[in-house]
Amino acid sequence: MNIPNPILPGATIGVLGSGQLGRMFAIAARQMGYRVATLSPDSDTPTGQVADIEVTASYDDLDAVRDFARKVDAVTFEFENIPVATVDAVAEFVPVRPSGQALHVAQNRLREKEFLTKIGVPCAPYRYVDSLDLLRSSLKELNKPGILKTAGFGYDGKGQAKVMTDADTAAAWKSVGETESVLEMLVNFEREVSVVGARGVDGTFVHFGVVDNSHANHILDITTAPAAVPDEVAKSAVDIARTIFEALDIVGVMCVEFFVTEGGHVLVNEIAPRPHNSGHWTIDGAVTSQFEQQVRAVCGLPLGSTEMLRPAAAMAQLLGDLWPEFSATETEPQVLSPQDWGLGGQRQPDWAAALVDPGVKLHLYGKEEARKGRKMGHITALGQTTDEAVAKVIAARESLRS
Ligand code: AMP
Repeated sequence: MNIPNPILPGATIGVLGSGQLGRMFAIAARQMGYRVATLSPDSDTPTGQVADIEVTASYDDLDAVRDFARKVDAVTFEFENIPVATVDAVAEFVPVRPSGQALHVAQNRLREKEFLTKIGVPCAPYRYVDSLDLLRSSLKELNKPGILKTAGFGYDGKGQAKVMTDADTAAAWKSVGETESVLEMLVNFEREVSVVGARGVDGTFVHFGVVDNSHANHILDITTAPAAVPDEVAKSAVDIARTIFEALDIVGVMCVEFFVTEGGHVLVNEIAPRPHNSGHWTIDGAVTSQFEQQVRAVCGLPLGSTEMLRPAAAMAQLLGDLWPEFSATETEPQVLSPQDWGLGGQRQPDWAAALVDPGVKLHLYGKEEARKGRKMGHITALGQTTDEAVAKVIAARESLRS
């Protein structure tokens, strides 16, 4: 289908945010002949290292944001914590895709849950909580152990606490910072899956199928594609994802994360209106990566094929914990000097060991500081089966520890 007025190669795409998602987006955009500009409060960022223009400014510096918007032809974002006022300032000049409205919904768990409930999408039963008393009464109402999550994101990683017994309640309230929160029923799930999809300016929807995700310490650890779920479970997940794309009128890429219960019921955990960790395998494993889809969608081009290049793919996350002689803590990062980068560096994992299997692909995000729990890169492998692909990425990652 012909889409009117696409933004063609040669144009400049702006990215709000400067982490690894922006970096992989910028690589895909530059491969297609676009220029890329990034804005964030930091410098020498994962995105800035591969962008044409890196602007260092606070998201609240709306003059800088407007200057940035004047230099670009369209804008997207790479994480949810961008203030809506920033997006609105950009939208005075150029299209922002996905829209600020999608961002607004996704950046607050309460709004997200209310939205999902309103459009009839199943998610875990929840209650809004803004005091310890309300937390206590809500736990009784839900009649189950629960998980307390701050409504807004980015509270120094202190965003979540399980409440298993009455004795945990006060500590959980304290640990989320005694702030507006959502109490969710703790779901007894069998597996966690996600759907990464893309929607074009003309409403065309494509998706990369359902993938299995396993987490370690609340951080995505391994993704395998396709998910080992019955067809009807996969169909429900994709149908729900599509419903959310359409209800939010997403133009761009979005990930919908789900819990699958023992009975095969699918509940939405959360949505992220941007490329997602669980879609990183598409760079090496699909005809079109999630990042190229983002470029195509944002620029109003036809979307690419999501066909897999092999029957199965796996992705293993590489966290800062893998760094040898790791002595850093969240507050005392281990700083790597530039010469520590590159094969043969003294103070980083032995990347050559991970690449002994010629089918393994290594992606590093260019972050100078290795911190516990920080996403530094990932490894992908393909296979005839998910077992084969996952065995390769796990073996490659294990070889980094020796
Ligand atoms: P979230 O940041 O909300 O995606 O949560 C991170 C991880 O915590 C999820 O991937 C689950 O493993 C776990 N989790 C979150 N919410 C729930 C829930 N309602 N029930 C059970 N586990 C949960």
